[in-house]
Amino acid sequence: MRAEFREYRRAFRRPLMTAHGVWSERRGILVKLTDAAGRTGYGEIAPLPWFGSETLEAAIALCQSLPEFLDLADIRAIAPTLPAGQFGLESAWDSLMQHDPRKSDLPDWEPPHLSALLPAGEGAISAWKPLWDRGHRTFKQKIGVGELAAEQAAFAELVGQLPPRARLRLDANGGLDWDTACRWLEQCAVHPQVEFLEQPLAPSQFDAMLKLAERFPTSLALDESVATLAQLRTCWQRGWRGVVVIKAAIAGFPSQLRAFCQQHPVDIVWSSALETAVARRYIQAHLVQPENSGNRPDRALGYGVAHWFCDPAFEQDSAAALWQTLTASAIA
Ligand SMILES: [Mg+2]
Repeated sequence: MRAEFREYRRAFRRPLMTAHGVWSERRGILVKLTDAAGRTGYGEIAPLPWFGSETLEAAIALCQSLPEFLDLADIRAIAPTLPAGQFGLESAWDSLMQHDPRKSDLPDWEPPHLSALLPAGEGAISAWKPLWDRGHRTFKQKIGVGELAAEQAAFAELVGQLPPRARLRLDANGGLDWDTACRWLEQCAVHPQVEFLEQPLAPSQFDAMLKLAERFPTSLALDESVATLAQLRTCWQRGWRGVVVIKAAIAGFPSQLRAFCQQHPVDIVWSSALETAVARRYIQAHLVQPENSGNRPDRALGYGVAHWFCDPAFEQDSAAALWQTLTASAIA
């Protein structure tokens, strides 16, 4: 089938601050496959290099290296070093081959099921209420971005304002050390609204995170540590039974991720890699399914991020409509 690629760019309303630095623009690639019968399937390559996936440049090079007319063997041969590319191409193939109108007609997720991403630090204090009024009940805040005392003061004010039934996730993006992680977990212990602390330490400190998980009552979640299916498998084998945050758009071949999740009772929070509706709808239809044994209905999905962008078309339009808007940015 014929493969075509177009690049997209989306500016954030305001730059997203994480322990990895400042991020101001989301760039990625839409994939279109067309078979001899004229059927089409769309996919999306949304790299997150600071999170462990390939760079956009490497993804573009992959697109340029693939034959214009490709088959499944070409897709399955995409290297594990290109997990966003594996996802984008296999999901496009899957969408074309197994086109299921019932699945593509799934309604978009409603706010109560989505964890809404708040700004780091003090910015969260004025940001949570409008999102609560829109129906969000779970929130997420980045920590490890600024100075510890200021962040903990902002956190204390935020949890003081949040209604008791709200839930708050803290995400350190691996930016803490043992001592600061303990300081955060001591503070979290007296706030039952905290659902979990996400990736307190760098992925290399896996054993220390196991110890932290035993020492404090607040749950820990791995995210950077399980960026790809291969890493998820390793952490599972090494004994991690806590929460895992899965960004399916950068995790590799979705068929393999789906199989792993069906075979292991993993406590998963499905989460956005700040991809567009093209990858999100595929993930919703093909991965976030009750038959995946670990999907707990009380875990909000990490997809409450639309308010970070100012171009709703990328959240709402069909893949075919989005594709049409990108004619000028074809990757040759
Ligand atoms: Mg995270």
